[in-house]
Amino acid sequence: MDMTDLSTPNAQVNIDPKSLPDIMCSECGNATFVPVLFLKKVSGLISKTGQEGLLPRQTFACNNCGHVNPEFVDRNWFHKSTLSDPTDAIESSDIEVPEIESD
Ligand SMILES: [Zn+2]
Repeated sequence: MDMTDLSTPNAQVNIDPKSLPDIMCSECGNATFVPVLFLKKVSGLISKTGQEGLLPRQTFACNNCGHVNPEFVDRNWFHKSTLSDPTDAIESSDIEVPEIESD
């Protein structure tokens, strides 16, 4: 009897990258990213150690311009008093272009 090993999880390894959508920076179109961290301050009152600490959450920023795509931002991560979309702070600075019309 031929005992073929069916337990080898090759299905997840053999994904063809060409079949997957590319992720580009939504600001400059760059295709390389670097890992960056969102950080939360953890109060000593709620941390297990009883000491103030940091809670990191990794995401990715454009390696060219530093922009963080909205798809990389977990909105549930941010406090309500924070910007609804942290990337708005970056993008909005470029949107307002004063129109100067002179005849
Ligand atoms: Zn970029």
